[in-house]
Amino acid sequence: MFQINENYLKLPGSYLFSTVGRKSREFIEANPDKKVISLGIGDVTQPLAPAVIEALHKAVDEMANADTFHGYAPDLGYEFLRKAIIDNDYKPRGVDLALDEIFISDGAKSDSGNIGDIFGPDNVIAVCDPVYPVYVDTNAMAGRTGDYVTEEEKWSKVIYMPCTAENHFVPAIPEQTPDMIYICCPNNPTGTTLTRDELQTWVDYANEHKSVIIYDAAYEAYISEEDVPHSIYECEGADTCAIEMRSFSKNAGFTGTRLGFTVIPKKLVCNGTSLNSLWARRHGTKFNGAPYIIQKAGEAVYSEAGKQQTKEQIAYYMRNAKMIREGLQNAGFEVFGGVNAPYIWMKTPDQMSSWDFFDVMLEKYNIVGTPGSGFGPSGEGYFRLTAFGSLENTQEAIGRITKG
Ligand SMILES: *Cc1c(COP(=O)(O)O)cnc(C)c1O
Repeated sequence: MFQINENYLKLPGSYLFSTVGRKSREFIEANPDKKVISLGIGDVTQPLAPAVIEALHKAVDEMANADTFHGYAPDLGYEFLRKAIIDNDYKPRGVDLALDEIFISDGAKSDSGNIGDIFGPDNVIAVCDPVYPVYVDTNAMAGRTGDYVTEEEKWSKVIYMPCTAENHFVPAIPEQTPDMIYICCPNNPTGTTLTRDELQTWVDYANEHKSVIIYDAAYEAYISEEDVPHSIYECEGADTCAIEMRSFSKNAGFTGTRLGFTVIPKKLVCNGTSLNSLWARRHGTKFNGAPYIIQKAGEAVYSEAGKQQTKEQIAYYMRNAKMIREGLQNAGFEVFGGVNAPYIWMKTPDQMSSWDFFDVMLEKYNIVGTPGSGFGPSGEGYFRLTAFGSLENTQEAIGRITKG
């Protein structure tokens, strides 16, 4: 008789967004006259930039002609795209990468979930708390997290690094030494960042303890402050301890189009084995490439017009972020994030629980946000709002809150 991967049975139900959805629907049905505004989901709303659309149309037409048709893409992705990434994202920041240190993929979610394939089953992982759920759940599927302890809302073998207002959302070095350390910066859900020095501390720690850092930089394009690194490779020695993931989803609106990449420097080795060659093997065996037309669209993000247009999209979302942040502050709330990321992380008033505050926001202001406790136990007492809505809706939502 066949057996299933029983690690899947250990996963607790993912109630966060389904409960948010159900509660919102029930409220709307009971109150058809109310206009409910969602500042809850982490998905973009602006259309793809004109330069991207133009490149897509052109690439589609190429596919109609035998002379310009493209079949399977090269394993690592087309060189035109990897070169554009190196020339635009890394060289200007003083980071030297070779073309075969970049792996094009269909997004940072799959890469951050799949990367575990090349690591041993007994590695101990460390994650920030609250956290993007993909890191923990995919390690649970791989059997690396021990058992789920319901009362604590924690996995027995995972090292949780609380990130709260008390430590300014900077994870402290844990007592137990982790093998794999997940860092997302700028952070989803808290919208906060690490400075270059703070990140350097982690890079030094990882090198010293022979740990690997899985660095998720999906929100890199939203960084506005000088001392926040755009890439972990801006830190000295990161090329011997860090894997970096990037995405075209949040900087260029590719959430439905799908494109991302992972960087694995060849200097990153474990007992003489290069992780770059392991991932090349994995990528070539289990992934058959992001579509040509999408890689051409990705290349257009780096054209002069593409850079200008995507910069304007980000500015649009960040204008919303500023409005939310300042509106909430003026209304007397304690807020974080929203400066280098499209997320605003607020403290619930009067020690209210995240879910109680969800109900207040929905019933009193008709606004949907995300309860912080859904991202981990240290998210309790916080609430996430996103800047991905339209300007008009964001204005109206904040207007309701400031009017009280
Ligand atoms: C949105 C997001 C991603 C992007 O994933 P894609 O698969 O590239 O769309 C990755 N990491 C975090 C933390 C995110 O919020």
